[in-house]
Amino acid sequence: MARFPIAEFKDLGTPFYFYDLALLDRTLAEIKRTSRDERFKVHYAVKANANPGILRRIQAAGLGIDAVSGGEIAAAIEAGFRGSQIVYAGVGKTDAEIELAIRNGVSCFNVESAPELEIIDEIAGRMRKKANIALRVNPNIDAHTHEYITTGLAENKFGINLGQLPDMIRLAQELEHVNLSGLHFHIGSQITETEPFIMLCETINKLQEQYAENGITFKTINVGGGLGIDYADPDRHPIPDFENYFKVFRNHLHLRADQELHFELGRSVVAQCGSLITRVLYVKEGESKRFAIVDAGMTDLIRPALYNAHHRIENISSPNGELHHYDVVGPICESSDCFGKDELLPSIRRGDFLALRSAGAYGEIMASHYNCRQLPGSYFFEK
Ligand SMILES: *Cc1c(COP(=O)(O)O)cnc(C)c1O
Repeated sequence: MARFPIAEFKDLGTPFYFYDLALLDRTLAEIKRTSRDERFKVHYAVKANANPGILRRIQAAGLGIDAVSGGEIAAAIEAGFRGSQIVYAGVGKTDAEIELAIRNGVSCFNVESAPELEIIDEIAGRMRKKANIALRVNPNIDAHTHEYITTGLAENKFGINLGQLPDMIRLAQELEHVNLSGLHFHIGSQITETEPFIMLCETINKLQEQYAENGITFKTINVGGGLGIDYADPDRHPIPDFENYFKVFRNHLHLRADQELHFELGRSVVAQCGSLITRVLYVKEGESKRFAIVDAGMTDLIRPALYNAHHRIENISSPNGELHHYDVVGPICESSDCFGKDELLPSIRRGDFLALRSAGAYGEIMASHYNCRQLPGSYFFEK
């Protein structure tokens, strides 16, 4: 069990996000160590967590940014990132967002459709700029072998299908105010096996060979994010296996000498450094079940309700009590507002603090005001 400074929690309003900055720093250092290669550029996917304290830390470590909205571009600039460190993706960019991105000099638009490409060209022309673009390709990696891959399939709102790519490349070459600089891929999230990434490399190799024969080369290849983390045992794997992850691309992707390889990691950077801390309001004895009703709900951490995800739950106030089964539930008026069923936990009393682990990614950033609730606060731990 991770150690929490519980004495300091007594005066804080719950629920709140607890961020272990020392772990974040170690994670960032490990990314730096294992991605060492002049041609590798690691971007942080802001959508995982845009807390300014976290963003500034990531900025200081020298990572770039993957943004999916104008708001994220603004948050990154506010945290000290330069526009040239930002790549901008998203299937539905508005005109105002495209203008904001060009004004801030983002290094690349990841483009997902022909009409989007034409609008970027038009707006860039109006602003007397030339926009760097990469085409987001749908590699159609087989979902039957890899069920967890949900964004790289043909029938999906994201990206451009392989069959439509030649036309898109032609269009990008014809337009005057865009510069086709690369290809972009993102095959899914929470991928804990190596094989899908190997398949991605092989797909890219084939594509590159095919286009090279026609005299078309790309300055950048962007392989997106998706590296998974250990939700079941965060203390055993506090830092994901970045060594193996980057090795896969080093060994399987045929990069040309002058080519850059971009990564967009979200979850794997920030998930393990965050926990949602909540206080137990009531222990309710049902006829066949015992409920621990806590003051955090799906408005603070929606992943269990939204994706059926499970976060490890710990009783950090009394870790050594007798074990009992509890359903750990929130106060929101929805049956899906449940963090765990039949959780085996040390005896819980009213007022105990529980920690929902591995909540640093897609946690705080997805919080809502549903039921007119306040957003959770955040607490940074440095030691
Ligand atoms: C969400 C997203 C990422 C980050 O995904 P993780 O699974 O959190 O690493 C990267 N690139 C794109 C385009 C995304 O949409």
